[in-house]
Order: sequence, then C-alpha cells, then structure tokens
Amino acid sequence: MSVYLDYNASAPIDDRVLDVMLDVYKNHIGNADSRTHDFGDSARKIVEKARAQVASLLDIEANEVFFTSGATESNNIAIQGLYEYAEETGKKHIITTSVEHKAVLETAKYMKRRGFEVDIVEPDASGRILASKIEQLVRDDTLLVSVMHVNNETGIIQPVDELGKILAKKGVLFHVDATQSCGKLVDEIRNLKYDMLTFSAHKLQGPQGIGALVLKRKNYQLPPVKPIMFGGQQEKGISPGTTPVALVAGMGVACELAENNYHDNRKKAKLIKETILKLFEQSGLAYEINGDQKYCIDTTLNISISGVSSEALMLASKQFCGVSNGSACTSQSYSLSYVLKAMGLSDDRIESSIRISWGNDSDIEDITAGIKQLIDTAKGFM
Ligand code: PMP
Repeated sequence: MSVYLDYNASAPIDDRVLDVMLDVYKNHIGNADSRTHDFGDSARKIVEKARAQVASLLDIEANEVFFTSGATESNNIAIQGLYEYAEETGKKHIITTSVEHKAVLETAKYMKRRGFEVDIVEPDASGRILASKIEQLVRDDTLLVSVMHVNNETGIIQPVDELGKILAKKGVLFHVDATQSCGKLVDEIRNLKYDMLTFSAHKLQGPQGIGALVLKRKNYQLPPVKPIMFGGQQEKGISPGTTPVALVAGMGVACELAENNYHDNRKKAKLIKETILKLFEQSGLAYEINGDQKYCIDTTLNISISGVSSEALMLASKQFCGVSNGSACTSQSYSLSYVLKAMGLSDDRIESSIRISWGNDSDIEDITAGIKQLIDTAKGFM
C-alpha cells in the first residue's frame, strides 16, 4: 500500500464530512433558493448552518462568507471583481508576489492586459517575502496587495500579519490566499487584518469543488467587489448559480472539525515533520531543505536529494508513497518549479526537489514506512 503524502494537492475527505453530505444528497433534496416549499427551506437552513460554521472557524460574521466553487474562483473574484472600482477611482496598481498560486498570478497578468500596472515582488532564498519590500511599492493609486498566507510548494508562511497592519493603515485593500493555511493556522488567521480571504474546502478534508471568498466589512461596508460572472442572485450575486447544498454542508463540517481539533492536529503535524526529518538525517543521503524551516508550516516539507532526479524518484517509489514535485495545477506540463526558481535555487536542486505533505488523519507509522522506502529508493540512484 502506498502512503498518501500529497495533502497540499488535495486532502482526503473526512468520513464525518462525507456522512453529512450523503445525508444531504439522500434526504435534503431541493434548491436552497426555492421559496415555495419546505424542501427549499430545509436546504437553505443547511447552507446557513454551514456559513455559520465557516464563520466560526475564522471568527468573523456569517454574512462575510460567500461560497464559491473553490479558491481559484475566489481569487479571481477578489482580483477581477475590483475592476469597476478601479476604473471609478483611478486606482489601477496591484502588488503581488512571484510565489503566488497561478490562480492569483494568472489573474494579475490578465489585469495587466486590461491596463493595470502590476508589481511582482520576489522572495529571498528563505522563500519569504519581506513586508518592507511591499510597503516600499505602495503608491497613492495602489488598489490591491495580494499575498498568500502559506505557500503550497514550500510551506513557507508569509508575513501577512505584519502586512495586514501596514496596509490597513495605508488604506490599501489586502487579499490573502489562505488555501494552504485555513483550518491549520487557526489563531493566526483569526488575528489577521485583511479585506478578502480565500480558500478551498478540500485542503482541510472537505469536498472538492467548494470554497469561500471572505469579504470583511469595514464600517459596515464590504470591499468594493463586483461579480465577474452573471446569472442568479445566489451568494448575493457574487457567485451565481445553484448553491451545491451537499458540498456546502461538507465544507461547514470540515471547518467545524478543524476548529474543534486544531491544537491536537498541530501537535501531530509537528511530530510527523520531526519524524520525517529524523529519517532523512539518519539516511546518509546528501539533501537540502528548501525554504527556511523557521517560517515553515508543520504539514509540508520540500526537500532536494542531491543527484537524484525527482521525476525518476517519484516514478520508482510510487508503490510506496505518493509525493509530488510542485503544484498539481502546473504538473501537466513539466517545467521547473517557478516558486523554487524565484527563491534563486539552482536548476539541479530544483530538479531533485520533492514536496511531502500530510494532514490530520495521516498515520505516523505508515509515513515512516513510506519515507524509509523512498530513502532506500533514492539510495539506489546513487
Ligand atoms: N491557492 C493555493 C495556495 C493553492 O494551493 C491552491 C490549490 N493548489 C489554489 C489556490 C487553488 O485551489 P482550487 O484548485 O481548489 O481552486
């Protein structure tokens, strides 16, 4: 049996989430926006319960949560949705970073084609972006700063807390892609200052195909985001289309579980990381860890084994463990990781990098066995 170590790509759905979803599919049929019968009312209640569960995890108001199909859609709305406001105010400058997910980077590029000026800030070798670098770029016409909380490839935590305080003072809109941190860095997100926050349920053991865009109110006003797709008035028009009630219910439960268990989950994640690191230390392999571990989340390890191609290693060890070498979203066409490249790593080091990621239901013994096999396979290449 191969052990799954690619939670950053997608985490397996929790059984308790699936049970609730099955109950919705079987017993709570109806469109949450149907007003003419009890089936609709029952579906609406389920959606609103889930909204409250998401809000509770984030310590925000339920009416600040907008369900979407996932982080990609949420990121697109958070950025593209500001177009009209930008036209009205003349604020057409966006700042983001070169290590963002493509859902942000490609959207920023699209805004550039529509006449915006986009500054892209580079990280240093640690994988971190300096908040001061962003601060220096802020101008009177800066519309938005978009910085991810945790990088999906390296696990590096960006200084979004510091940035949030700086940008709030300057009155610049701040978007945080929290897809890899939501449900994991719970207190950190609760204490963040942001205007928009985005994530997908499947990274915290909820279902795929559902996510949220959080629009934080300031002085009772939502950020000036307009819909980018048109249709019904679902999610106040922000994400039109029939609300997928079972997916929403599953997301709500995943958020509740994350809220109830985050202290224990964190302890376990740390233990797993220490275990994996020890196995590498004892392996006799020459390796380098990518990204400064001082700033790294406990659920991710990006590591380069010197002289071992990650493509060859993953192929040879796939019956033991499922790891990856970068974002699943870009892995169709193999090219060197743009995240590691932005950190200034050599091509050789990038070619030998693998990303190992785990989660709450990972089994430490299975992981130990899988990593041992991975290490033995790597030794076979030496
Ligand atoms: N942002 C980040 C940081 C991610 O890791 C991902 C998923 N890899 C996304 C956005 C997009 O999420 P989804 O594919 O669920 O829309």
